[in-house]
Amino acid sequence: MKTVSMIVPCFNEQESVPIYFKAITKVFEDPQMKDYTLELWFIDDGSSDATLNELKTLNAQHPETAHYISFSRNFGKESAILAGLEAATGEIVGLMDVDLQDPPELLPKMLRELHTGEYDAIGTRRVGREGEPAFRSFLSNMFYKLINKISKVEIVPNARDYRVMTRKVVNAVLNLPERNRFSKGIFSWVGFKTKYLDFENRERVAGNTSWSIWQLFEYSLEAIIDFSTAPLAIASFIGIFACVVSVIAVIFIIIRTLFFGATTAGWPSLAAIILFIGGIQLFCLGILGNYVGRIYSESKHRPVYVVSEKK
Ligand code: UDP
Ligand code: MG
Repeated sequence: MKTVSMIVPCFNEQESVPIYFKAITKVFEDPQMKDYTLELWFIDDGSSDATLNELKTLNAQHPETAHYISFSRNFGKESAILAGLEAATGEIVGLMDVDLQDPPELLPKMLRELHTGEYDAIGTRRVGREGEPAFRSFLSNMFYKLINKISKVEIVPNARDYRVMTRKVVNAVLNLPERNRFSKGIFSWVGFKTKYLDFENRERVAGNTSWSIWQLFEYSLEAIIDFSTAPLAIASFIGIFACVVSVIAVIFIIIRTLFFGATTAGWPSLAAIILFIGGIQLFCLGILGNYVGRIYSESKHRPVYVVSEKK
């Protein structure tokens, strides 16, 4: 018998929770899954609806299977994942969304792949992004291209958080002390052999996605800053480039003055250049500031989440 701990972050998911529970338990009732026991860790990420009540009901009915951790406020999905990884007791640990966008039917196949012993983790990738605004898909494709160019850690395009992994991988992930956590990067940073299975994109069963374009942008920025120092190099490059241009300009001005005499004209272009350089300086300071901000927030050593209830 192997225990499979599934970590399920929930943020305002009162409708999805019971539907999800039915679907996942059904998968584990199948005879081919008889070697596995399910342990669920629902993380209520500061929901303002009845999600916690739903989780309490499940826990009361199935105290062995359905556990929950409730956060004191919304800390974000990454914090929920960490809380789950810390609480999970299984030899196999998985991550899964509660909205059934991660198909439970795929789980037996994922566990079979893991069971072969050839891989330490089985991830998933969704193909097709129907039901998603074209602009959003475009932005997300751009993001994957960019991050894989500038980061040494490979971020698999369209990979979901939906995955199962062995205890070995979980322990490695838990060993990373950082507070700003970008899971997709962390799982790839720790290494180990991972196989990706594809599945068709599907719509959520209930509720709405809680990600706005702006949040996705911030999430991308976090990924870039956590896993790449390329923006710092770009800032230096822009600085050097501006210096070279200004040296060339000075030489040009000296030669022109020597051969054609001094002119007083040209102050508008001068003003424009000053503005331009000022802008570049602020831009580079901004990049630097983002990294310093990260260092500041890491150095405060605040916990990643605060638990109000656990069962
Ligand atoms: N989620 C969370 N905290 C948040 C936002 C989302 O725990 O602050 C959970 C949410 O309940 C769901 C999963 O993370 O189980 C994925 O969220 P969502 O479906 O909104 O994202 P999408 O599938 O659109 O990427
Ligand atoms: Mg979803």
